[in-house]
Amino acid sequence: QLKETVYLDKLAVAGQMAAAIAHEVRNPMTTIRGMIQFLGSTTSDEKLKEHSPLLIEELDRTNKIITDYLSMVKPDIPKLESIDVETILIDVVSITAPYGSIHNVEVSLREIGSYLICTDEPKLKQGLINIIKNGIEAIDHAGTINIYKYKVTKKYITIAIEDNGKGMTEKELEQIGLPFYTTKAKGTGLGMMVTFKLIKDMSGKLRYESELNEGTRVLLTLPLSTNSDQLQKEVVM
Ligand code: ADP
Ligand code: MG
Repeated sequence: QLKETVYLDKLAVAGQMAAAIAHEVRNPMTTIRGMIQFLGSTTSDEKLKEHSPLLIEELDRTNKIITDYLSMVKPDIPKLESIDVETILIDVVSITAPYGSIHNVEVSLREIGSYLICTDEPKLKQGLINIIKNGIEAIDHAGTINIYKYKVTKKYITIAIEDNGKGMTEKELEQIGLPFYTTKAKGTGLGMMVTFKLIKDMSGKLRYESELNEGTRVLLTLPLSTNSDQLQKEVVM
């Protein structure tokens, strides 16, 4: 019993150190990024001009890994409030639509109706963006992400996020959300691990249904704000 406590304490310290280091690494990275951007846009050197966007892209990717990692290790109690789920979805669709159109993917939101959910808005948005981006990246040529109301019960609303992309095998489905699991050349394999945690922390549920070469449907279940007091207690405990 005692041994376990000590081990968990050590883990917490390791997490805090990792967060501190990540924070320190970010500052010089920001300087480097700014410098590359400046040099790339002012130089007459063709090679530097040509390659600077790639350098910036790689720096941004490194930064993304740190961000995803930090949101895992930082002990961060979600701030739950009552918010209309449709408003959040409209925002998230407008954030992801440009990324979709680069990939010839339409991000389409069907009418949801007004439902107050009990959630942490920035965290829910981050999770939704991760899910939708994965859907866009799963579509090879052109396609659609359909977002719609799947089910409403007394206490929960379930939103479906459906893509007609490449889908997953059963084996691939089992691995989704494991740290560093990715099938993409430039993936981090952290997006879904973070998303599962964020959704769990707000007492939500995430379910994946997928068929190879057909597509994937993500079912996101979130608590309606009718039982918010009870949920707030559960999370703080
Ligand atoms: P990353 O996007 O960096 O690869 P994620 O954790 O977001 O990491 O996703 C892990 C893996 O799960 C992806 O590489 C992909 O293989 C699979 N995946 C996630 N969402 C979908 C989807 N909608 N369709 C097909 N595969 C998916
Ligand atoms: Mg991803």
